[in-house]
Amino acid sequence: AIWAFDQLLAEGLTASVHAYANLINAYVNSGDMDGAAATFSKMLANGVRSNVVVCTALLKGYCRVGDMAGARSVLDGMVGQDPPVMPDLRLVNTLLRGCVRVGDLKAARLAVACRFYGSTPQTGASNVDRSLLPSQNEKVPSDGLSAEPAWAQAAINVTIFHWGVKAQFPATHRFLLDAAASSEYGKQRRPTLTVLLRMQRPLPTSVEGGVLGVTILGGEVHRARRGAEQGDPHGSLQCGAVLADVAEGAMAEFCRCKATDLPGCFAAWYCDDGQVICRPANSDLYLQCLDAAAARVGATRGAGPAVKTRVRLVGHPAALAAFHEPWLSEHIRQTCQLGEPNEATEVLGTVVGSATAQDAHFFERSVASDQLRSSLAEVADPAVELTLGRLCADVSRVTHLLRTCGAVVSEATACQHDASLDAFITRTLGGDLPQLSLAQAAVGVTQGGLGFRRAADLATPAFLASRIEARPFVQRLFEAMTAQSVHVPNAMQHYDSQTDLALQQLKGRLSENRAAQAQEMCERGAEMAQQRLAATLSGGQLRSTGAPVGAGQAGGHLLAKDGAENPEHPVSNSAGQPLQLQHALAGLVDRDGLDAMVSTLTAGGRNSDVRRLKELRHETVSSEWLWALDPRAPASLEPDAYVAAVRLRLGASFATEPLPCRACQGTLDPSGYHALCCAPGESTRGHNDVRDCLFDLARLADSTAEREVLGLLDAAPGLRPADVLTSAASPGLTSALDVGIASPDAANAGADCAEAMRVRKRATYARFLSALMAEGVEYRPLVWSCWGREHPDTTAALTQLARQAARRRGASDYRPLLRRARAHIGAALARRAAGMLRACMPTQLRE
Ligand SMILES: [Zn+2]
Repeated sequence: AIWAFDQLLAEGLTASVHAYANLINAYVNSGDMDGAAATFSKMLANGVRSNVVVCTALLKGYCRVGDMAGARSVLDGMVGQDPPVMPDLRLVNTLLRGCVRVGDLKAARLAVACRFYGSTPQTGASNVDRSLLPSQNEKVPSDGLSAEPAWAQAAINVTIFHWGVKAQFPATHRFLLDAAASSEYGKQRRPTLTVLLRMQRPLPTSVEGGVLGVTILGGEVHRARRGAEQGDPHGSLQCGAVLADVAEGAMAEFCRCKATDLPGCFAAWYCDDGQVICRPANSDLYLQCLDAAAARVGATRGAGPAVKTRVRLVGHPAALAAFHEPWLSEHIRQTCQLGEPNEATEVLGTVVGSATAQDAHFFERSVASDQLRSSLAEVADPAVELTLGRLCADVSRVTHLLRTCGAVVSEATACQHDASLDAFITRTLGGDLPQLSLAQAAVGVTQGGLGFRRAADLATPAFLASRIEARPFVQRLFEAMTAQSVHVPNAMQHYDSQTDLALQQLKGRLSENRAAQAQEMCERGAEMAQQRLAATLSGGQLRSTGAPVGAGQAGGHLLAKDGAENPEHPVSNSAGQPLQLQHALAGLVDRDGLDAMVSTLTAGGRNSDVRRLKELRHETVSSEWLWALDPRAPASLEPDAYVAAVRLRLGASFATEPLPCRACQGTLDPSGYHALCCAPGESTRGHNDVRDCLFDLARLADSTAEREVLGLLDAAPGLRPADVLTSAASPGLTSALDVGIASPDAANAGADCAEAMRVRKRATYARFLSALMAEGVEYRPLVWSCWGREHPDTTAALTQLARQAARRRGASDYRPLLRRARAHIGAALARRAAGMLRACMPTQLRE
């Protein structure tokens, strides 16, 4: 086929894009991506424009072999073409499956964003789904201001906002971003405050082939041909950097025209979203200045019916009623939509307006999240659905609203959101989840849950944290307003009294001890917020308290570590980051909720459930298997096993009544606890998996480590006390590590099933211990509970092995190795539990 094709070309015939598509498809289906890529290049070289069919074929090929860099290059090439080839739904789904398969959640999240918004990126205005971008929390507090009498007298104002850049960005701007700012951006934090405050001016001008180049300190150069594309994480940054200059120029011009330094006009910008507050009489002049400055960089607010600027009067109703000055000029009419006085408006994805308007907006966004979750069912893989659901369709889609309006979102609206989230979890996990299981799913993963936090629980912590962390900046905004003679009397007092009220509400819900902790956290958070702003203003580095990434190189900060952007992931280090306070406060609410659950279960005599929760909350339990999506990764589970393991974790029943156990003569309880003490075949298989994980770690520490060693002792040649024999677990000794997995529901479990098993194992070998020791061999049982908790001695041994392994490899930090080993063991235990349940279930229920 290839030969025939080449002949065709050689004879001067032009192959159509369909002919190329067929050939590329043939290469892809035979797994030859080099051939496919070469054909694609040849096609472009021959002047044939690619289309969405060719690109999908190519993308599918790259996704299939797990080459996401290749897949992305196809996508970049598509939209980079002039005119661009727009991805369609099929292509986005192909990409999504590919991303998910290799666990590239960041890319998957973008793909979901594309899909949710329809897949036609718009040139020009940045239409990126804001909830997928950094949270935007610095806001002028909106509520209540208009009721301040002094404020009403001080100003009847025009608010102008929503800046749409319709034009192409000029190629004359090149700007430098501080590496710290861009790394914050990479971690989905809010960068723009930093960027705008620290952008280096004047901007060095450089044009390279009409391409706007953004140089980020540390070497990365971001180039854009046009304005921001949808889904382009740098889009807002591009707009923001250019528009910061425009806004500054406009204000300078305005002051020149007014011949004053006190213009009575205040502008606050976040990327391409600007709000201007000024006297009605000045609004025309300001807009003229703004448009003149914008025209100089080739941008425009546009005119006609589709304009994005909205203008309205704000102020006390009485003052507004008495206001009759003319202010609506022809220019304003042409370039702005006219809003009702004091109307609620959406700014930066959140509503500024009455509590009712904010509540309605929250409701609307929560319905949108629900639709996104429904679309996830297409993926048809529970682990993928659940992970994507949590990463991009959970409460985080409305967290920015809770942070800004959490204090006024009604309980009914929050509960409606949570009920829809519960329905998603229930559907994904095969139906019928009891309330207590759903409550458990709502707490953090380290507390035994799934991290699907509830809006009702998060509203107050989110609002409070936002208010405390944003306070220094908000104060600065108000001071700046005063300095420009747009004064809002008592604004900070108003702000603080709302914050205090929220703190009192949170404390009222918590136990006495935790209420005190909440108070302390808020005080500490307030201090840190001050420090953060001071550091930003002085141009200092915003250092996170964690270890430097990328061997301390500034460029290394640009690369988020695997999992670092996922707050439920153990690698995630949110210390020193803006969401830290919210996480800490939410953690208190979590623990309170769990205590309440445990009380309910204890009162109901449900001891197995109480024990399960206690085990799962232990710090040594690794739950990474919950989010390990790459089927080739050792921590991932088959879809069936995954659902069963998650249901077991949540104590969700499998049947409505006890059933006869298929593996023994006993009875299988509806929650499956019996299975974790039965099913010997699956139990042994799981034991061997854990042993293999342990062996892998031991081999990293000690290349002579052996598995299943016979004849350790001449006196007892058939004795096999060592699942793994290694010299790396105890200094100066050879250790015979004996793996054991214990259920807290076993008859002989006692108060601590792991310790009870350790004692039993030592008793079994008691008469050989001294003989072994004489040969320099210590017998050491390593016991886990079936829920993943390590016995302290297991922890000690694993830590020692990881240290030794790190030393051998010259790594300074042993913890990544330990974490990886734990992740594998955690997955093996989850797989074991699912297998044991399956072995005990009656055949008709297994399908
Ligand atoms: Zn049984």
